[in-house]
Amino acid sequence: MKIKSFIVHGILVLFLLFSCSKESKNVFNVDQLKIDASFKGARLNLFEKIGDNSYKAHIYPAFEPVNKSPWFAFSITSKTAQEIQLKLYYKNYKHRYIPKLSYDKVHWKKIDANSIHIDTVSGEATLKLKVENKTLFIAAQEIESSEDTYNWVSKTIKETEFLRREIVGRTVKKQPIYAVISESDTVKKSIVLIARQHPPEIPGGTIGFRSFFEELISDSPLAIKFRASYNMYTFPLLNPDGVDMGNWRHNAKGIDLNRDWVDFSQPETQTARDFILDKVKEGKNINYAIDFHTSHSGPYMLVLDSINQKKVKGLTSRWIKGIEDNSKFEVEARKRSQALPYCYNWFYNTFKTEAVTYEDGDEEDREIIKERAKIYAQHFMKTMNLKIEKEL
Ligand SMILES: [Zn+2]
Repeated sequence: MKIKSFIVHGILVLFLLFSCSKESKNVFNVDQLKIDASFKGARLNLFEKIGDNSYKAHIYPAFEPVNKSPWFAFSITSKTAQEIQLKLYYKNYKHRYIPKLSYDKVHWKKIDANSIHIDTVSGEATLKLKVENKTLFIAAQEIESSEDTYNWVSKTIKETEFLRREIVGRTVKKQPIYAVISESDTVKKSIVLIARQHPPEIPGGTIGFRSFFEELISDSPLAIKFRASYNMYTFPLLNPDGVDMGNWRHNAKGIDLNRDWVDFSQPETQTARDFILDKVKEGKNINYAIDFHTSHSGPYMLVLDSINQKKVKGLTSRWIKGIEDNSKFEVEARKRSQALPYCYNWFYNTFKTEAVTYEDGDEEDREIIKERAKIYAQHFMKTMNLKIEKEL
């Protein structure tokens, strides 16, 4: 009898282990629905039925404490076409991002305003979704995994003869950290661009950054002149682990990389720092740095509090004046203490290099994000070219 019960228990344990391992891969089968959160960049911790055609998606941060950036991404496929109600539940956090929907992870649309109800007290959002036998992706922002960014890097390098790519370090999970480089032996002046330290920040960190960068590598006379005077060192994705894990904020060790530019406790920040310090040792000068992000209250720019905005001497104030005098865009410059352990402060504190944090807004129109980045890039190059002519 004992042996028989042992075997029965063993089978039960095996069965439970099997069903758990299925869930640990983050695929949930509930009624007619298959919910998949196993792809790179996905985040969904639990999916449960709470009523007729009514479900609840639990979304938790990978690490705490964390600021309120509740990233989620998963897909739903239904055996039969139906409308479901889906509650997005964030435990101690509140809903922030308007869900974006896509069938191919390339073309995205914000959910219709009448298909979402946000309970500002509980912090939950309830979505009305039409699901069918066609996989629907639902995410806080457009999904951009490390693979997507690296494919864009490969394509851009192939199309742009003066650009090269170098693996300059490895992340906590040993993923490559790429620098994209435009450099000439005879040019000493240089700029640095850094993007996507914070995983959910696609609007500024990917869409805005990319449009800005593409203007700098374009064949406009302005860009050609700029590149003849400045090297460009670009980190298009400094936190690939965090991005692929679907983290709200951190890298794979639970560290906010943009608070690690004093301690340098992580391989990602160490890699960027060491690469830049090596360039300076080789005789290059760092003349400007821009770090791309996204905020709930963006767009704005974080500027150093040591720079007196009234003086037109500074590159940042000239750049902002150039944008405001010549385009429809107004720049909100927010000053922050340069003692904070942010990336852009490190440039100032180390080299006395002017630098900004470029912040876009969570729900800004994507075409406006691209247009703004392009205009900002043009005036950035004009300012930097003027520096060469007048030695500002
Ligand atoms: Zn950020």
